[in-house]
Amino acid sequence: MSELKLCQGTKCHTYHTQDRLKGTKGSKTYQTRRRSSFYYGNENFCSLNCQTDWFNDFGDRAIDHFGRLTEVKHLIEDNAWIKDYDYDWRNDINPKSNWRSVNKVTQEQRPMTEEQYNDESYTLNTN
Ligand SMILES: [Zn+2]
Repeated sequence: MSELKLCQGTKCHTYHTQDRLKGTKGSKTYQTRRRSSFYYGNENFCSLNCQTDWFNDFGDRAIDHFGRLTEVKHLIEDNAWIKDYDYDWRNDINPKSNWRSVNKVTQEQRPMTEEQYNDESYTLNTN
């Protein structure tokens, strides 16, 4: 059995839903949600509400910790590369996708491999 994750929402246990009410009869409590996977906030939160609760409590500190943006960013040729692909939904036995880098400033396109597409550190951006 895979390990269950706990929702990281700071107020998750305060929401009165039937699935949060756990324990033996007579001593049930509302508890933080436990699931094998979550859909929100990089799989850390059971709901958008819980994600917002966390951000309201810790967001400013997290931004200060990782670096608050203090200057406007500019989209220029050197940092405008994004990853893109087309998926052929009509061919699900042997799907063909054309993974590529697309420059959002120049519209130039360059092919890439599926491995490069899935590699989060791969980018053509130099700035
Ligand atoms: Zn939650």
